[in-house]
Amino acid sequence: MSHVHDAVIVGAGFGGMGAAIQLRRMGYDDLLILEREDDLGGTWHVNRYPGLAVDIPSATYSYSFEPNPHWSRLFAPGAELKAYATHVADKYDVRKHMRFGIVVTGARWDDATSCWEVRLDDGTVERGRYLLTATGFLSQPRMPDIAGIDEFAGEVVHTTRWDDDVELEGKRIGIIGTGATAVQLIPKLAKVAGHLTVYQRTPIYVSPKVDGPVPGAVRKAFAKVPLTQRAARLAGTSILEVMMVAGVLHYRNLPWANAIGKAACERHLKRQIKNPELRAKLTPDYDFGCKRPTFSNTYYPTFTRPHVDLETTTIDHVDKTGIVTADGRRADLDVLVLATGFNLWDENFPAIQVIGRDVRDLGQWWRDNRFCAYEGITVPKFPNFLSLNSPYSYSGLSYFTTIETQMAHMERLFSAMQAKDVDVFEVREEANQEFLDRMTELLGNSVFNAGSCATARSYYFNQHGEAVLLRPTSTLSAHREAAHFPLDDYEFRRAERPVAV
Ligand code: NAP
Repeated sequence: MSHVHDAVIVGAGFGGMGAAIQLRRMGYDDLLILEREDDLGGTWHVNRYPGLAVDIPSATYSYSFEPNPHWSRLFAPGAELKAYATHVADKYDVRKHMRFGIVVTGARWDDATSCWEVRLDDGTVERGRYLLTATGFLSQPRMPDIAGIDEFAGEVVHTTRWDDDVELEGKRIGIIGTGATAVQLIPKLAKVAGHLTVYQRTPIYVSPKVDGPVPGAVRKAFAKVPLTQRAARLAGTSILEVMMVAGVLHYRNLPWANAIGKAACERHLKRQIKNPELRAKLTPDYDFGCKRPTFSNTYYPTFTRPHVDLETTTIDHVDKTGIVTADGRRADLDVLVLATGFNLWDENFPAIQVIGRDVRDLGQWWRDNRFCAYEGITVPKFPNFLSLNSPYSYSGLSYFTTIETQMAHMERLFSAMQAKDVDVFEVREEANQEFLDRMTELLGNSVFNAGSCATARSYYFNQHGEAVLLRPTSTLSAHREAAHFPLDDYEFRRAERPVAV
């Protein structure tokens, strides 16, 4: 049998790097990180559209153990996130484990050798004692199923495949989608377009963005006295936590907290848009939090510019020269931008085929039953598998909270295995079921179940109508459980050691 790595990690974004750092801390040095793109950084490598910036305060959107005092703004631009990822990979020496341009097609647990066989699209197989998928939640771009889109003779560009060579200056640009990506991109497109038509199916809640350059003196203080930046991080994290826990997760008991968020967005819209007809078109008809809200000071005013149209009539089809709406009107376009987001539930959970014990196919099993992973990370019948982008894994609003919660879970799990001198773990079915029951009950209090979300078309909801992406607990509780979960929730054993040849 060929070489067996300690672990194969799929994905070299912040999640994959966090997992690699944790494994190295636990003494596992033979790691293989497989990345389909040509460099590390995940979403911050793939997304390069104009206006790209983090929409969580930067002091919070970073690893707590690697604060970056150099963020230029409160909400750093995308390029700084990419540079930060590069810095972390080098400082924590995980780049040497990475191989780029490698597409993983699937993985299968081999009970005889107690290892994972990971298939690559060139037909080769890599083996790992542990398998970790860190493929991101938003990694499979969604192409809209609109008739005729392939007929369009102009340029078509999805936001995840931004091409700086596409000429935008003075062009007639159409953009489909008004999610968080479009909210960043639309003001930038309006600056250069000859004419811009925005196709909106569902309006988004937008709140004011308290942004600005971080003064040099503050950056110096962050660098010299890290405690000051930790305090800024704590403040940012606490605000997000209150928004999430009070405004979204405890909706049934604290509807007023949700109403505060909604009112802030409505006031922002009212201040920025005076025309009642335009304002009505931009006003969501679902509860705040059903769908990811975002921040912007420039989005709404863009629609008041004379060369920008907001089109809310359903798109009927695309033809060679533009878009035709259901009422027969047409807009001729030179460039069509697809800000149509990602396919989570059909293609991302999981992003590759994963076959566990008894030939259980993870994607099939989730779709045929219910989506669940114990503590958002492990699944019964999938020994030695950590699924980092799982149902109920996303905790809090900054993705780094999720990453570090999972690192804590790994620390407890791998420490236990080392103490017991075993190397195979598998979560018990009963523990997984108990976790699912508990999360289901908690979800009942959230805006997703108790609020009015039917018209939100939110990607938080899966094909069963369940909003199982976000963990319905506080981040403190998620972190506490990650560090203290009952070890009896797992079965442990020693692997038969395969002989490497
Ligand atoms: P998204 O939120 O899923 O938005 C996709 C948009 O495309 C929606 O407005 C959707 O309309 C529309 N759409 C999709 N298919 C369509 C069709 N066939 N016809 C008409 N409209 C269609 O995707 P996103 O904007 O890329 O954002 C995804 C997530 O990325 C965000 O929620 C956020 O978590 C993250 N993000 C983060 C940052 C950051 O700075 N951290 C920045 C950007 C994005 P419907 O709503 O009607 O489906």
